Amino acid sequence: MGRYIGPSCKLCRREGMKLFLKGTRCAMAKCPIETGRPVPGMHGQRRGKKLSDYGIQLREKQRLKRMFGLQEEQFRLTFDRAMRKRGVTGEVLLQLLETRLDNVVFKLGLGTSRKGSRLFVTHGHIAVNGRKTDIPSMTLSEGDVITVRSGTKSREFAAASREMSAGREVPEWLSYEEAEFKGTVLRIPTRDDIAPIVNEQLIVELYSK
Ligand code: SF4
Repeated sequence: MGRYIGPSCKLCRREGMKLFLKGTRCAMAKCPIETGRPVPGMHGQRRGKKLSDYGIQLREKQRLKRMFGLQEEQFRLTFDRAMRKRGVTGEVLLQLLETRLDNVVFKLGLGTSRKGSRLFVTHGHIAVNGRKTDIPSMTLSEGDVITVRSGTKSREFAAASREMSAGREVPEWLSYEEAEFKGTVLRIPTRDDIAPIVNEQLIVELYSK
C-alpha cells in the first residue's frame, strides 16, 4: 500500500490547520501554520473563494485522513468497517481511527508523532497482550495491554519519546505504567475523548453520495 512521502508541513498548510505530523517540531514557533505561511501552490495566497458543499465535505475527509497518515484506500476501508458496525457511523469511524495501534502508541507518548509511532510498531518494538506485533493498523479493544518489548534499544527509544512528549497527557481512556513500559486500553474512547478536528458527519455524507 502506497504512502505519502512528501513534506508533512505542506499538508497542514493545504488544510489550513495544524495536523501535528512532525512531533516536537509542531510545538515550535517556526511551525509554518504559526508563521502564517499560505496554502501551497501558485495561487495559494489568492485562495479564499467559497467552497461548495462537496468541497467542504472533501476537506473534512482529507484533514482526518491526513492527520492519521492514511491513504485513500485505507481510509475508505476503515469507513466501510464503521458502516458495518453498530452505532453512529461517524463516531465509530473516529473510534476505529483512534484505537489503531499506531495511534495508541502515539497517545501513550511512546512516539513523538503518529508517523514515528507507526515505525516503532513496524520495527517490532511493541507487543500487544504479550505477543509481538508489527501491524500498526491493528484495532485495539478494551482491556488490551501494550508493552514495549524488553530489548534495550526499544526501551531507550520509548523512554526518550516519553520524555520529549512530556507536555502531552495520556488520555483518560488509556493508562500507562512507566516502570513496566506498559499501557492499557481502559475503555473505548467516546467522541468527547477524541475531540475531533473535523465534523465527521460531513465525511459520512460525502461517502454516502
Ligand atoms: Fe509542520 Fe507540525 Fe506545523 Fe504541521 S503542525 S505545519 S507538521 S510543524
